[in-house]
This record gives sequence, C-alpha cells and structure tokens, in this order.
Amino acid sequence: MNLVDPWNVAFLVGFLIYVGTRHHFERRVAAERGDDAPTPSEAPAAERPLLGLVMLGSLLIPVLYLLTPLFAFADRPTPHALRAGGTVVLVGALWLFWRSHADLGRNWSVTLDLRSEHELVTRGVYRRMRHPMYAAIWAFAVAQAMILPNWVAGFSALVTFAPLYFVRVPREEAMMRREFGDAYTEYEGRTWRVLPRP
Ligand code: SAH
Repeated sequence: MNLVDPWNVAFLVGFLIYVGTRHHFERRVAAERGDDAPTPSEAPAAERPLLGLVMLGSLLIPVLYLLTPLFAFADRPTPHALRAGGTVVLVGALWLFWRSHADLGRNWSVTLDLRSEHELVTRGVYRRMRHPMYAAIWAFAVAQAMILPNWVAGFSALVTFAPLYFVRVPREEAMMRREFGDAYTEYEGRTWRVLPRP
C-alpha cells in the first residue's frame, strides 16, 4: 500500500489542494460570469484528446498508483532529500496555481476562450510572466516526479502535459495578439513565458 509512505501522503495532500483550488475557482468564475457565455473556443476539438491525456497523467495515474499495486513493477529507489525537495516545489506550485487563478479572475477558462469584456491581465503573478498557471502545472508535474518513487506515476504528468503546453501556448498567444494587438505585443516584450523575467 503506497499510502503508508509519508512522502506519498504529502503528495496526496498537495494533490487534493490542487484539485480543490481548481474546483473552487470553477465555481467562483461560473457564479461571477452569470450568463456571459464564452465565444466559441479556439480549436476545441483538436485539444480535446490532449486535455484527456493530461487528465490521465495528472489525475488517474497518480491516484491508481497511490491506491493500487498496479504500477509496482516500475517502483524506483528515490532518495529522501530529493523527495523532500519535491515537497518544497509542490508548495510553490500550489501557491502559484492559487495566485494565477485569483489574478486571472473571470478571464480564466479551461479551454481557449475570450469572454465578452475580456480584460488583459498584466498584474500580480502575470506581471513578469505570461503563463503563471501553466508554470504552476509544470512545477506540480516536476514535484510529482521528485516525490513519487515510481517511473510511471512519477513522470506521467510531465509527459502528458508537454503536448498540450506546446500546442496550446502559440495558439493562445496568437489569439491574445489578435484580440489585444499592440498591448499584448508590448506585454510579450516585457515578460517570459513560464519564468519571471527579471
Ligand atoms: N496561459 C495563462 C492562462 C491560462 S487559462 C496562464 O498560464 O496563466 C487560459 C485562458 O486564459 C485563455 O482562454 C485566455 O483567454 C486567458 N488568458 C491568458 N492570458 C491572459 C491574460 N494575460 N489576461 C487575460 N486573459 C488571459
């Protein structure tokens, strides 16, 4: 039973906070938005399988690993120091995940959408990087790889998030440039994607 391991329990707690944060903001945004339906998503059909892949790697596989012996064949020795470091990364990821949802407010959506009266957010954690929410997801995936002592469950989030990230980000930025023009181009000039620009 993988849940007797205290680092795995720390990961599970972080995982529940991660899922809870998303749930909290989904409800809040829906309540604030009322009837303001989004404009049709940017290529939603193309992204659906990639979103499914992310669900598999960041939800289903870690849960199966924690609760069943399914992936025992891929267990690997992982030093305590690495797992402790991963827990620190995990806390940072959760903070950034929370802050990016809070700063994006009603402009947030799971798929690529522009709201009516969509506002370009450049404050808070958006001041120095354009994709703090994706940065938080990367950081969570790195923490997962550092904490879970298993080749499959450790790396599943990193491997499954990469395709969505690399397909989506150029599309998202093109969409924002179309919508906000020079304001977004200037914003791109003073920020990096997933690291804070000094
Ligand atoms: N890429 C951002 C946001 C992810 S949520 C991040 O990683 O933090 C995706 C939605 O956020 C997109 O549909 C887009 O409409 C919206 N969005 C992205 N950047 C934004 C910004 N700077 N201001 C307002 N909305 C933004």
